[in-house]
Amino acid sequence: MTRPAHLVLARKYRPLKFAEVVEQATAVRALQNAALEDRIGSAYLFFGPRGVGKTTIARILARRINCTNPQQGEPCNQCESCKSIIDGRSLDVIEIDAASNRRIEDVRELRENVKFQPMNSKRKVYIIDEVHMLTTESFNALLKTLEEPPEHAAFVLATTELNKVPETILSRCQVFTFRKVPLHRVQEYLAEICRKENIEAESDALFWIARKGDGSVRDSLSFLEQAISFCGNKVTAEKVRELAGVYPLELFLELTGLLLDPSTPSQELATPVMEIFDQGGDLNRFIWDYLDHLRILRYIRSGVEDSDFLGIPGSQIQNIKSKALEFDPSRISLIFDEIHGLLTTAFFLKLRNSYESRILIEMELLKIHDRLKKPSVSGLLSKIQKLSVSLAGQDPKRSSEELLADLDNAPDEKVASGPNSSAQQQRPAANPGNPPAQPEKQSHTTSPGQGNDSIPIENELQKQFLGTMVDPDSVPNEPDE
Ligand SMILES: [Zn+2]
Repeated sequence: MTRPAHLVLARKYRPLKFAEVVEQATAVRALQNAALEDRIGSAYLFFGPRGVGKTTIARILARRINCTNPQQGEPCNQCESCKSIIDGRSLDVIEIDAASNRRIEDVRELRENVKFQPMNSKRKVYIIDEVHMLTTESFNALLKTLEEPPEHAAFVLATTELNKVPETILSRCQVFTFRKVPLHRVQEYLAEICRKENIEAESDALFWIARKGDGSVRDSLSFLEQAISFCGNKVTAEKVRELAGVYPLELFLELTGLLLDPSTPSQELATPVMEIFDQGGDLNRFIWDYLDHLRILRYIRSGVEDSDFLGIPGSQIQNIKSKALEFDPSRISLIFDEIHGLLTTAFFLKLRNSYESRILIEMELLKIHDRLKKPSVSGLLSKIQKLSVSLAGQDPKRSSEELLADLDNAPDEKVASGPNSSAQQQRPAANPGNPPAQPEKQSHTTSPGQGNDSIPIENELQKQFLGTMVDPDSVPNEPDE
């Protein structure tokens, strides 16, 4: 099999200088300063997720250490030393993959080898990747070298799992933590690459590519390469979503709308699931993506619009926003809990095929729909309030219109102080996207106090409800208004 084409971009744009590395400013700055002041240490440990630049920076450092014509903190990449390292033919920069060289014999060989002076360079640089894979014996052998390193040697250890590296090794190293690259940074970087490559790419398409790369520039570039093969010179969001297996936003919004609408016929509830089933989609993935969608709805409902945090492009946030404001957060949470429970069930049942998953999902959706048809506690209390207002209409001090207006404008506040009202409390007070009733609500915070004085029945009913756990299942179905 030939080498996959998607390696090309990642290789072509692998940074050759510190300044070209995306993010990782802390490590870059510290290493450049050390190089400038000629005090590069004998052992470093780079820790962080895959594909964020650990070995890339180790190689740049190796070149800077041995460069015969350094440019400030950077290697020149032109001298014979730099070139031989770039081409991978330097005998003094030794890269070891600890995953496949983890035995004590391998480390013994290294210990023998390290004693010899470098062939053509100032220092020998050992880059040991996936160092956590070494056996305990191997670690002990490596430790002896790190305790008394020859002056002509430098070690760069890299790992994705710091907790598997013994404390004794860590204490001998300068440790740098590498972080995932934020989505918007990867997105910008991909846009830059596309410009250089004369590829037309939609901004949202690059967002989905960055998200697929999960904070790794290398993986994102590989996926961009695949997207270019798939789309040609015009990379669209729709095609990238298809390639990445991201279900369309509309599908999830539709499903939530169907669940929340009491009049949805039962067969229609299954439509979105059927669509995925017919296309041979992964239903387990669908459930996780739907859970994520519900999470996003809740956040947008409370005014969060940070695209990196939510994990969807800005344009989609705007599309969801108006819908999200219509949804009752407590009901979204109820759907979330039920769907989440479904995952646990599916796990224990060890489902064999997608048809079995489909049965489970469909029945769960029917169950959720039935539950959502029943009135919520807040809805019930609101009705009680209205009832008590009509009873208190004879109050000589206030007209019934005034009282009704008060209660209509401030439906949930009194309820929100009760122990059963966590859902209402999550409705954000300082939500910029709240319905327009918000400012009026504020101005009425004193009115209910007066109302309480003059409406003893309401007081009594509230006292009873606020201190009582009400199981929504025990509340009878309400007739339509
Ligand atoms: Zn050089």
